[in-house]
Amino acid sequence: MKYPDVIDEVRRIMWPKPLKLFTAGPVACFPEVLEVMSLQMLSHRSDEYRALHKDTVLRLADFLEAKESTVLLIPASGTGFMEASIRNAVTPGGKVLVTIIGAFGKRYREVVESNGRVPIVLEKPPGEPVLPEELDEALKKNPDVEAVTITYNETSTGVLNPLPELAKVVKEHDKLLFVDAVSAMGAADIKVDEWGIDLVFASSQKAFGVPPGLAMAAVSPAVFEKAEKIPGRGWYFDLLKIKKYLDSQWSTPSTPPIPQIAGLNAVLRIIEKMGGKEAWLRMYAERAEKIRRGVRDLGLELFAREGYYSPTITVVKAPEGVRGVDVYKAMRNRGFEIAKGYGPVKEYTFRIGHMGYITDEDIEELFINLREVIEELKGGK
Ligand SMILES: *Cc1c(COP(=O)(O)O)cnc(C)c1O
Repeated sequence: MKYPDVIDEVRRIMWPKPLKLFTAGPVACFPEVLEVMSLQMLSHRSDEYRALHKDTVLRLADFLEAKESTVLLIPASGTGFMEASIRNAVTPGGKVLVTIIGAFGKRYREVVESNGRVPIVLEKPPGEPVLPEELDEALKKNPDVEAVTITYNETSTGVLNPLPELAKVVKEHDKLLFVDAVSAMGAADIKVDEWGIDLVFASSQKAFGVPPGLAMAAVSPAVFEKAEKIPGRGWYFDLLKIKKYLDSQWSTPSTPPIPQIAGLNAVLRIIEKMGGKEAWLRMYAERAEKIRRGVRDLGLELFAREGYYSPTITVVKAPEGVRGVDVYKAMRNRGFEIAKGYGPVKEYTFRIGHMGYITDEDIEELFINLREVIEELKGGK
């Protein structure tokens, strides 16, 4: 028996009208990803599942240039690994240098605090990156921190931190480095071994363009060694347990999101067919450049400091007298789901996400409509 009516019923809830997505995540997915995700389920203890898990881990490790580190795939959103980094690799009551350039850096501070560790904060105003000399100074002042956290791409402000330079400073001070690359991985380069990152994590629903539910990370041997000595790691996010299941059976302690892993596998294959990592990252860089050009052509200003523009999201200052949320609403009425401003700069910005399945024609249509919307709003209509 098949019940096509239930599909229509659900579709009417989710998609009462068509929308082109320029979101901060979840983002639009490749058709191949959605198709592979509709395959029938299989046991996560079967040989077939193990083959899928193994192939996906190896492909992602290759993409991240992580030979010494271990790639973990778990059922969670990216924030799960944020919590795991603190619970597994920082002593209870120990100090962590948390760098903050926007809303997601603040989340890291909350995760540190709520897990009974002590955040030492290095905070920059919204729109600014962390600079290597500032990080160096903060580490000189606080030699007793066990780890440093960095938001690679701050999704609330559209700033890409200079991660390779910052990582170098962290290594000079011999601290563990945890990187929130949730909106960077898949679009901004990451060289895990070469840059010396101890734990870098992301979510499926951002730059890889896969539905939400899968978190991925590359974890260094130093983190696993440290975890041996940390009490109270819990069960669900115990990195040693997760690694044990990976090493012994190419699977996870609890049930993995099999469709998302199949989806990620498909994307990693698409990347390969499009010419590999470099070609893929170039596609993202060119798309971002095109969107920034479109914004400037409308006479609007970018929020991020020049030279630190995000490859995955552009934050735009709304014109004088126009609220960011009104731009969002007007665009939605025209069939474009952009992203509202987020965090402290919410009122006077709006955001255009560039992640996932977006065509050049989509971008052209977006700007034709955005031009009209801005004119209307400026005219007070
Ligand atoms: C989206 C996002 C998160 C949160 O990711 P979840 O998958 O919702 O846990 C964290 N950090 C950054 C930089 C993000 O863009």
